[in-house]
Amino acid sequence: MVVGVHRPTQLVIDRQALRHNIQSEVSRLKAGCELFMVVKANGYGHGAAQVARVAKEAGASGFCVAILDEALELRAAGFNEPILVLGVTNPADAPLMAAQHISATVAATDWLEEAEHYLALRSAGEPLRVHLGLDTGMGRIGFRTPAELKTATDFIGDHAAALTFEGIFTHFSTADDPDDTYFKGQVAKWHELVDTLAQRPRYVHVSNSATSLWHDECNDNLVRFGAAGYGLNPSGWAIPQTPYQLEPAMSLTSELVYTKRLQAGQSVSYGATYTAQQDEWVGTVPIGYADGYERRLQGFHVLVDGHVCEIIGRVCMDQMMVRLPHDYPRGTRVTLVGQDGDQQITLQDVADYCDTIHYEVACGFTSRVPRHYI
Ligand code: PLP
Repeated sequence: MVVGVHRPTQLVIDRQALRHNIQSEVSRLKAGCELFMVVKANGYGHGAAQVARVAKEAGASGFCVAILDEALELRAAGFNEPILVLGVTNPADAPLMAAQHISATVAATDWLEEAEHYLALRSAGEPLRVHLGLDTGMGRIGFRTPAELKTATDFIGDHAAALTFEGIFTHFSTADDPDDTYFKGQVAKWHELVDTLAQRPRYVHVSNSATSLWHDECNDNLVRFGAAGYGLNPSGWAIPQTPYQLEPAMSLTSELVYTKRLQAGQSVSYGATYTAQQDEWVGTVPIGYADGYERRLQGFHVLVDGHVCEIIGRVCMDQMMVRLPHDYPRGTRVTLVGQDGDQQITLQDVADYCDTIHYEVACGFTSRVPRHYI
């Protein structure tokens, strides 16, 4: 997809906000506990390499991504820090990961066996670093019994030329919930499994943003820090108190490219779902669902020169219309996410309207929207 540099619509990423969030977290961590910034999905839409650069300056000592290609992107951008791929990779890519010092998440012993097969075909090379994923209740990937875990660690121990046991981790599914019943069950299950290890690996980790913010006694020696680093409260509204102020790093801005006076009875956009009840001013904003600005945002609002203006009619693929209090010149600033004057629209507000979570909104903005770093 081309990047729309000749259009006034852009995502503005505030590096100072990223720095503030990450530094604030790093400074809370106990001695010996590291922070890996989670930059999967293009840094939650903020730009992976740019976020990684700021995160490194702010004290992150490594990165987590979801897929191998995201790890390779960071290596190609010159990052030498540890990188953990959180998702399941193809065992055939084990030699590539080992050569690039990229750590793999492993959720089954047959994966190790297959990876070892490919690693053994090499004439030389470092072992692949693996983190064993434990499923303590997330129900996604991971070993679930002490016996399964022992089989995996024994296999790694027996194939030291191919595999290194670098880490072990789990992922909590309700750390952002004020009710910690399920969370405590997962912690107990984690201990049932991890406490059977004969030897702890270099990294032992359970914490995403929510766990580190609200249950930091669990952190052990590594935090996988995502949403909160971007200034987003991982709980949405459920737990408003955070140990420090989260500063949202992402804004979305555009401009009015066209205005007109609509007469009472005239309609706007596909399906003619909006009809003016009286004469009114209407502005066109060059953004649409092909940019990740969802079609269901009809009826939501933007800020035009700091004034709240309703989105009228259907959001089109590339354009949408807003009702204006009066005429504005072409080029007037439109804020779709962010602050203008004393008004603010957050990613959480957009997510609420779309009946989803801010994670989905942030990483849903497509590559057609340029990212501008301030
Ligand atoms: N760890 C794992 C395994 C994840 O899947 C994620 C994100 O989905 C994270 C850490 C980061 O979570 P958060 O963005 O809530 O900090």
